[in-house]
Amino acid sequence: MADLFIIGGGINGCGIARDAAGRGVSVILAEQGDLAQATSSSSTKLFHGGLRYLEYFEFRLVREALEERETLLAAMPHISWPMRFVLPWHSDMRFDNDTPTSRLLGLVMPWMKGRRPAWLIRLGLFLYDTLGGRKILPATRTLDLRTDPAGKPLQPKFRHAYEYSDCWIEDARLVVLNARDAQARGARIMVQTRVISATRTGDHWQVVTNGPDGPATHHARALVNAGGPWVGDIIRNVARINSTEGVRLVRGSHIVTRKLYDHDRCYFFQGTDGRIIFAIPYEQDFTLIGTTDQDHQGAPKEAVCTDEERDYLLAFASKYFAKPVTRDDVVWTYSGVRPLYNDGAKSATAATRDYVLSLDQTGGAPLLNVFGGKITTYRRLAESALEKLKPFFPGLQGKWTAHQPLPGGNFPVDGVADLTACLKSVHPYLSDYHAARLIRAYGTEAATMLGDARSLADLGRDFGATLTEAELRWLMTHEYARCAADVVWRRSKLGLRLTPLQIAAIDDHMTTRLTATPAAE
Ligand SMILES: Cc1cc2nc3c(=O)[nH]c(=O)nc-3n(C[C@H](O)[C@H](O)[C@H](O)COP(=O)(O)OP(=O)(O)OC[C@H]3O[C@@H](n4cnc5c(N)ncnc54)[C@H](O)[C@@H]3O)c2cc1C
Repeated sequence: MADLFIIGGGINGCGIARDAAGRGVSVILAEQGDLAQATSSSSTKLFHGGLRYLEYFEFRLVREALEERETLLAAMPHISWPMRFVLPWHSDMRFDNDTPTSRLLGLVMPWMKGRRPAWLIRLGLFLYDTLGGRKILPATRTLDLRTDPAGKPLQPKFRHAYEYSDCWIEDARLVVLNARDAQARGARIMVQTRVISATRTGDHWQVVTNGPDGPATHHARALVNAGGPWVGDIIRNVARINSTEGVRLVRGSHIVTRKLYDHDRCYFFQGTDGRIIFAIPYEQDFTLIGTTDQDHQGAPKEAVCTDEERDYLLAFASKYFAKPVTRDDVVWTYSGVRPLYNDGAKSATAATRDYVLSLDQTGGAPLLNVFGGKITTYRRLAESALEKLKPFFPGLQGKWTAHQPLPGGNFPVDGVADLTACLKSVHPYLSDYHAARLIRAYGTEAATMLGDARSLADLGRDFGATLTEAELRWLMTHEYARCAADVVWRRSKLGLRLTPLQIAAIDDHMTTRLTATPAAE
């Protein structure tokens, strides 16, 4: 019998699995598809405090997220790095008229008519700089866009901007590295394994799964429902529990365009509809633009960026860039569904982004349901989840994840250039792009993956865009990859550079390998 059975291999399920396994709890995790296949690979990929949540007075969430940025950065300097955000200011920018701040301002300064005054943005950024105890990330500064290179791609009417700090995170890799670390600490991670039913039996849960080897039954003292957008479905149809708690499914879509500008900073654009979007340098040759906020009606896995959402993002960005961004610039889109706790907010934008952990003990063995949350707060959410479960595991060890690197992350925050140079000195046949990509993906483990290869030929077949047979083997053996989509859209974003034919060849290769060695991982 296991201590904990976790449903869902997104960031929350894998984060809880890692934390629990490191405290001596025996863990089984089941993911119905690939790790991070749902919301956790569809985010804007920021470790951020959420500047806009200040307008909703979400101070607890913002403080916790701001504190987390640097803790997480230090634990994974390969897959996370500091970013500077340029926020152009213009008098047209409006609030969402439903925020507590806009209502307050409407009372005391009615003549502003919903406009966001510059002093308020400066106050928000002052709070943003100070709330989270910043040590590594630089502070906010003002920019003159007429002279600063950040002004060059923008329309000339934008003359002033603020520049502040947040961090980038490779969201899907974060999930996989948490799963790997959980496994290294004793957890059992099952992919392509759907939980069909969970039934309280005496003092424990009986969980039935259907995976690659067919149906199986597991027993566990406690159950965690980290099903993300499926959290409500799992409560009602898997655990068959009546509950009034609801999840609000809010879809967010992104577009990826050809690179729109030449510097490495991001833009934070405010709209006249009260919303904000980001434009972010992406995968060296591209720009990521998002996101939208739409209540989502269909099944979570059917979320796609609609034509309306794409056109909305294009029009929004074109209000800022000097050269309009058009449909022809778009090379890829993706969409995800936020599993928000339903707090009854009027608009999807206003629904709380904070997480709620609800413990159900009716009838014995505990069930912990996870609602909402941010990628940024996953580690704190996992700590809170274990705090809730502590009464059921009396000998539970204390918190430990704050200063423990994830696999490959055991090097200094500013050590990427040195590590890349070191890898190139041992493997001089790697191009600069290839070496940098491997260090950003695998950190100190890149050298282990390459082993004693002396030439590109030693890495086996070349599948294109620097993806080699050796890397594929690593992803299948150590990172739970089972098909090409796992590799080219989640473990990496090489799908942006590979042709459909090349992706099909990767699929064929993986299928052959899986048939020959089904026990990989
Ligand atoms: C557009 C968008 C932008 C975002 N941007 C950011 C950002 O920049 N920064 C940030 O901090 N946060 C961001 N977020 C929020 C963040 O992405 C989510 O809070 C987080 O990914 C939720 O993770 P999760 O593990 O709860 O859900 P998921 O990642 O969806 O994982 C749930 C998993 O459960 C599995 N599952 C469901 N049912 C079963 C079953 N019966 N059996 C087995 N497995 C099952 C699913 O397949 C899925 O993989 C964003 C979200 C969206 C949608």
